[in-house]
Amino acid sequence: MKKLGVYIHIPFCVHKCSYCDFYSVTNTLLTEDYFSALKEQILNFKSYLKDWTVDSVYIGGGTPSCVDSKYIVDIMETLKSVVKFVEKPEITIESNPGTLDTKKIKDYLNCGINRLSIGLQSADDEELKMLSRIHDKSAFESAYMLARMLGFKNVNVDIMYALPGQKEETLMNTIDYVTSLDPEHISFYGLRVEEGTPLAAREDLLEKIPDEDAQYNMYIHAAKRLEKAGYSQYEISNFSKKRMMCRHNCRYWKSGDYIGFGPGAASYINGELYSYTKDIQSFILKPTDFFVNIEKSEKLTIRQQATQYVMLGLRLARGVEAKEYKLRFGRDLEEDYGEKLEKYIDMKYAKRTDKGFRLTRAGLLVSNTILSDILDFDKK
Ligand code: SF4
Repeated sequence: MKKLGVYIHIPFCVHKCSYCDFYSVTNTLLTEDYFSALKEQILNFKSYLKDWTVDSVYIGGGTPSCVDSKYIVDIMETLKSVVKFVEKPEITIESNPGTLDTKKIKDYLNCGINRLSIGLQSADDEELKMLSRIHDKSAFESAYMLARMLGFKNVNVDIMYALPGQKEETLMNTIDYVTSLDPEHISFYGLRVEEGTPLAAREDLLEKIPDEDAQYNMYIHAAKRLEKAGYSQYEISNFSKKRMMCRHNCRYWKSGDYIGFGPGAASYINGELYSYTKDIQSFILKPTDFFVNIEKSEKLTIRQQATQYVMLGLRLARGVEAKEYKLRFGRDLEEDYGEKLEKYIDMKYAKRTDKGFRLTRAGLLVSNTILSDILDFDKK
């Protein structure tokens, strides 16, 4: 039976952080209606899902931890009623430390959630205020300790760099603080200024964003610090203890199959990519109407699937492998990309490995530029 990942979108937040462009709303009056629509949508896929075995679930958002945990438990029960799971699936829930409590954590564990992702972003309270996060360092620490005490054995902590006014010193303090808590996984993202967010209109903050050289140093030094503390880099922004990589996210990067539920969620199944419209109201009205909710749908040719495999695979520290490329797409990796990658190999941004190609750490940092140069999605 083929393996599948399931993504469930919970589009609610207590308030919008200044830099965020993820799809979420702060109108909690919609919660009840949203969850009954979500249940209906999942149940509607029952016959479709019978041919798959689920080995990872990711409950993301928004802020899944800001809603009453009874909704999360109910959705997990609904999912269990329509799909088969592998023996030890990885089931993650994202959380904001300002919204976790004992009951929620116990409920998550009791319904089978076994991985908790906590969005700390920074251990510096001034930086957190500037990001308009609802929590401070001490709220994070209490939530982290509580999760550990109640039984979460697999925890991820999110950290951000390249924040306005951030110094390498404050970033390193955050990293040292987080590694001292010993989570299994650390995600380390650079701030991106997204169009239309409140941050994008704040000239005073934008001018304090560290310049390219400073960002480069932050990334390289932080990655080294994380490695020294026992975390291996396995993707541009992700570090983990041995064998604790995020199975669900690896599925994305290895071009595996996944299905998404809820507005804004994306799916990739049997070479077909589709995503739902970011509109909670229309989703609530017609959760099972594929054509009302669908925003994009595209069947990729084998050539496009191969391009996507390289685009996502080069995000991984291990890179892309010629044998797998041949097996999945019947194409020759060296023939398709050898020449195009040559100049990046000379610049020390890429490397030929005994299995294929990978980007170096410096290359990972400029991967968008490299990928837009070497990939050609128009080739069918
Ligand atoms: S809590 Fe997360 S999803 Fe919600 S607004 Fe902030 S960054 Fe975005």
